Amino acid sequence: MARFNRSIGLVDGIIVGQGLAGSLLAHECIQNGLTILVVDDKHKTSSTKVAAGIMNPLVGPRLTPLLQDYDAIQRLSKYYKALQNSLGASFLHEHRLIRFLSTPLECQSYRHRITRSDGPKLVPPTQDWSHRCVIGEHQFELHAVPQVDTTVFLDAMKNFLMRHNALINQRVSHNDIDCSEGQVNWQGLRAKWLVFCEGAVGDGNPFFPEKKFKNAMGHVLKVRMEGMPKKTILNHGKWLCPVANSDQDFLYGASTFWNQTMNQQAQSIRGLQSSLQSFLKLPHAIVSVHEGTRPCLAQQRPFAGWSQKHSTIGMINGLGGQGMAVAPDLVRSFCQQLRVNKVMKT
Ligand SMILES: Cc1cc2nc3c(=O)[nH]c(=O)nc-3n(C[C@H](O)[C@H](O)[C@H](O)COP(=O)(O)OP(=O)(O)OC[C@H]3O[C@@H](n4cnc5c(N)ncnc54)[C@H](O)[C@@H]3O)c2cc1C
Repeated sequence: MARFNRSIGLVDGIIVGQGLAGSLLAHECIQNGLTILVVDDKHKTSSTKVAAGIMNPLVGPRLTPLLQDYDAIQRLSKYYKALQNSLGASFLHEHRLIRFLSTPLECQSYRHRITRSDGPKLVPPTQDWSHRCVIGEHQFELHAVPQVDTTVFLDAMKNFLMRHNALINQRVSHNDIDCSEGQVNWQGLRAKWLVFCEGAVGDGNPFFPEKKFKNAMGHVLKVRMEGMPKKTILNHGKWLCPVANSDQDFLYGASTFWNQTMNQQAQSIRGLQSSLQSFLKLPHAIVSVHEGTRPCLAQQRPFAGWSQKHSTIGMINGLGGQGMAVAPDLVRSFCQQLRVNKVMKT
């Protein structure tokens, strides 16, 4: 942990949380010459740590475009590549993705999508997958699908912040924040603003009582097997995604559930196991099970803005299940506001 001098005086901002949102915001701020401190409780409740980091251009059984504009996927790749260069790390991978479609809704969506001229071109897979998995009624192949290795990303970002003496490993209690005099004071540190990037545990944040959350928990299985080509994501509604730096390890997921009961959790894991079992023909072993919570707002759209009561307290949250695609633009335009100091209404 970076040792911190609490008599540092006034910094531009404090960011609570070093997940995807907090990391991207911190990086953007530092690149733009703002002085910031990030406070994170060692990823205790991190969704980013669990995420596979896939930016699948066509999601769900309806093959819904991830983003309105298909070129945005290429822009995202460019964004994360530039970030890699800035951090001196390698966490962006580009895979081919093979989609297998079985249900009537998936097949109908496929027939509809191949008639359209917008979006990616759906070409048949270049190889036969039927000895490795259940291939369904239709299949198509996409290329250069970006995926962020979130473990490497979080570590690289942590090292970057430590180099800038801008990371404190601690939990922030909402009660310790004083923003009564047009500035924010937290444990002796003074800042012009503080932005919460807490993820799912932001539910109940007293500075944003009007924000209602509908978080979605999920499990991911780590699976070990031989005979599966690397740099390929298989997707039959659930994805099987290679783990970087391993020829045998893959992530399979993710499940979705809303209730924290033990019963729901056990059902979610069992459901994922049997889905894998019915999809994969290659011998495999489940090495571990990971659980996380997608931060979702009830209104479904992500939020980046300011507290109605305190103009110095902000929040970026509600990235949902597609944070990698959603976060960059959201964070960039938020940082733009910080730079032009529009938020200081005092
Ligand atoms: C199973 C699963 C699979 C997923 N797969 C994908 C995928 O393939 N592609 C994709 O784009 N997205 C995926 N996601 C979604 C993605 O993980 C989220 O959209 C994104 O990571 C959310 O980032 P965040 O920064 O808002 O929250 P988080 O990653 O949760 O970060 C919040 C951070 O703040 C810390 N913190 C919270 N409160 C405090 C406090 N008071 N004091 C100090 N620190 C605090 C937490 O410990 C954490 O480190 C998946 C999510 C899950 C659960």
